[in-house]
Amino acid sequence: MSGVITVRRNDDAEQVELTTTTTGLDLFGDDRSVVAMRVNGESRDLQRELSDGDTVEPILIDEPEGLSIVRHSAAHVTAQALQNLFADAKLGIGPPITDGFYYDFQTSPLTPEDMKSIEKRMGQIVKEKQRFVRRVVTDDEARAELADEPFKLELISDKGSASADDGSSVEVGAGDLTIYDNVRRDGSVAWKDLCRGPHVPNTGYLGNGWALTRTSAAYWRGDQSKADLQRVYGTAWPTKDELQAYKTRLEEAAKRDHRKLGTELDLFSFNELVGSGLPLFHPKGGVIKREMEDYVRARHIEEGFDYVGTPHIAKEELFYTSGHLPYYADGMFPALLEDVERDEQGNITKGGQAYRLKAMNCPMHNLIFSSRGRSYRELPLRFFEFGTVYRDEKSGVVQGLTRVRSITQDDSHSYVMKEQAPDEVRHLLKFVLSLLTDFGMTDVALEVSTRDEDGKKKDKFIGSDEQWEEATAILQQIADESGLPVVADPGGAAYYGPKISIQAQDAIGRTWQMSTIQYDFNQPERFGLEYTAPDGSRQQPVMIHSAKFGSIERFMGVLIEHYAGAFPAWLSPVQVTAVPVASEFDEYLGGVVDKLRAKGVRVEFDESDDRFAKKIRNASKHKSPFVLIAGGDDRDAGSVSFRYRDGSQRNGVPVDQAVEEIVAFIASRSNESPTADA
Ligand SMILES: [Zn+2]
Ligand SMILES: [Zn+2]
Repeated sequence: MSGVITVRRNDDAEQVELTTTTTGLDLFGDDRSVVAMRVNGESRDLQRELSDGDTVEPILIDEPEGLSIVRHSAAHVTAQALQNLFADAKLGIGPPITDGFYYDFQTSPLTPEDMKSIEKRMGQIVKEKQRFVRRVVTDDEARAELADEPFKLELISDKGSASADDGSSVEVGAGDLTIYDNVRRDGSVAWKDLCRGPHVPNTGYLGNGWALTRTSAAYWRGDQSKADLQRVYGTAWPTKDELQAYKTRLEEAAKRDHRKLGTELDLFSFNELVGSGLPLFHPKGGVIKREMEDYVRARHIEEGFDYVGTPHIAKEELFYTSGHLPYYADGMFPALLEDVERDEQGNITKGGQAYRLKAMNCPMHNLIFSSRGRSYRELPLRFFEFGTVYRDEKSGVVQGLTRVRSITQDDSHSYVMKEQAPDEVRHLLKFVLSLLTDFGMTDVALEVSTRDEDGKKKDKFIGSDEQWEEATAILQQIADESGLPVVADPGGAAYYGPKISIQAQDAIGRTWQMSTIQYDFNQPERFGLEYTAPDGSRQQPVMIHSAKFGSIERFMGVLIEHYAGAFPAWLSPVQVTAVPVASEFDEYLGGVVDKLRAKGVRVEFDESDDRFAKKIRNASKHKSPFVLIAGGDDRDAGSVSFRYRDGSQRNGVPVDQAVEEIVAFIASRSNESPTADA
């Protein structure tokens, strides 16, 4: 066979004569940064042969797909090493994930020593540069070859239902079943696995940019009723330097973990008696919560919102009207039954009225809107409240404050005439961005979430094609004109309309989804909302949902990690820690403390029996922006000494000047830490 193929690199296209056996390795084999290839848009192993007329593009190690291929290949090597050491281990699945990969095994729990042995064995496999060789098999051949692998057999049986959700689509899926052999240089097969591929050409491509990171318990296909598995997590990067940078980032993230800092700084806790995902805010966490609430309440009023209030539960019918039932049923807690009658065995004999904990505030705001006639003159009409909503997150999914089951939203709804909608979205976006800036989150991007146009979830979205198109176009245009980076999120919309989400980067470069602005043409229709237009006709408003923090809990969790617990002075639960050099100066320093407290400054006065050095250590552990110290010199001079978070110090500052400086710094709402070097 001969012919011509087209090779695209960057934007250049080159025609290459095809010989009988031209493969991707012939084209790109010399270049270690090419890990696979895209043939007519489909990802393939470099060993695959090319056909006449094919268009071929390299997949580079540092593009997202290339990295996923490297990580998935590393998952294979992990499984191979683990089975070399533990012959009885049964293979689950091994997909790439953000920043790494995992592989699930049925085996006894792994010790840290086991992990070291697996890594060592992996190193040998990488050194041997074993080739990943693809082989198409029939279902029966696959079953025969993998007779000892019960989980793989199950995947073969239901390959039609493989899904990206549990990672099974990495192994099987549409098209041929394939087994990959790991082949040594002498041609012998070292190991094999059922997989769709693609993989890197040989294990040597992994170089030294990989590592195993941790283990955890898992269930087969994420189902608690199925087999217990051990999940081995790892990470892989193009180079050792990038691996090291990733490890440093992980260490930094661990130091900032809001769950750890929440305990150390006495901000919040969780209690088994209350339940998972249901946080208890302690007085210091309460200060941050109150500062956030005070701020956002005042800002909403400035921005033209009316403050309203609604109950936490409502009759189930309300949520059928809104469409939350059935569209959002999975996220809601089951019904509470009032006036239910039961027999002696506890069986229900007469059903009661079903109530639900609310999962969203919108339905009740709609009822405030429709409680009386509305004129176009009132629009935009904007309602806002701190609505605590409840989401039935599985206990395995909840995480600290960033994923909870009781969520306090700073939830607002703007009701506008359709022609006012674009300006209202602009208004809300500007509001959200200024709020994030005020809290020190200045690195933001926008994500536009749209309907799943032709995917299997299409029927999860209600409303006509025209409505979706129009709303999506408005949001897209406003996102584009913002000048911020905009990314697409197809399929990520709420069932009632598209949305803009604001993604903020924290101090160590992690992205958090915070605020959302959602365009809704559905609920006004479902609730029969209307206003009287200038011509006297009845018209339906458009509703725009927005949450600025998103949720108080999650935003607080993100702030704790962003600032690593060293909050801006205005937000800090303790703004000043007062430390006398010895107990004889308690009274003198107590006078300074009183002056600060009289000005509304949050002061902690350390009158404990601890020694001075220990008090200073405690103060720095608690991350107070200002530590005020007084000893004999200060008492004689009527002054105090400052010690700041960065360790810098100023001595002999007259008391009144010190008080004034602190009060002014707090009032400035600066997000920087104060320092002597300023
Ligand atoms: Zn694979
Ligand atoms: Zn809403």
